[in-house]
Order: sequence, then C-alpha cells, then structure tokens
Amino acid sequence: MRFMEQPLGVEVVCPDCEHVRLDPDEVTVRVCIDTVEWSYWFMCPLCERRATAGTRQGPALEAIAAGSPFESWRLPAELFERHDGPPLQLFDLLELKLDLMQPNLVEALRHEI
Ligand SMILES: [Zn+2]
Repeated sequence: MRFMEQPLGVEVVCPDCEHVRLDPDEVTVRVCIDTVEWSYWFMCPLCERRATAGTRQGPALEAIAAGSPFESWRLPAELFERHDGPPLQLFDLLELKLDLMQPNLVEALRHEI
C-alpha cells in the first residue's frame, strides 16, 4: 500500500492484477488490536474480486487521513480459552462424520435437549 498525493489516491496490490490505483474511500484499512498487524481490503476494479494484503502502520495511517474507512478487529476469544479435555483424535472425527450422515440427526439432537 502506498499513499499518493498527486493525484490523490492509494496504490494497492491485487494478487492477480498487481498494482492498482484507487481512491482512498475505496480501500478499507484494518488493524488487529491484539497483534497490531495492519492490513487492507478492496474490490479490485480490474478482476472485480475482493483482495486483501498486509501493510505497515505508516501507509495505513496516511490512507486513513486521506479518507479510507477504518476497521479494527480482535482475534477470536476461543484462541485464549483453556481446554481441559483430551485432545481431538482421528476416531472422534470419524465418529462425528458418522453422526452427520444420520438422516434424522437434528431430530435426535432435539430429543436429547
Ligand atoms: Zn484484481
């Protein structure tokens, strides 16, 4: 990501189209509060797909100052949970797969609640 003053714009990188120049309001800047990692996303005007990439704080703040929307997010709380049960085994996955193959699984679960 690179901020450009003349003309005003943000140069971003689409994985398929490489460097693309956009208006600042077309690039959403994001920061993960837990890791302080900066990134951005945009809809690429060339391939019309959503693209995302990491960036550094400096260019991110310049894009925000120029009008880019800003989002913050946190890592899922589940990452910090402690689990005391036994680790998941291959057998557990096979058992889950067999359970999911039951045609009346939802009804069976409703009766157990
Ligand atoms: Zn593209």
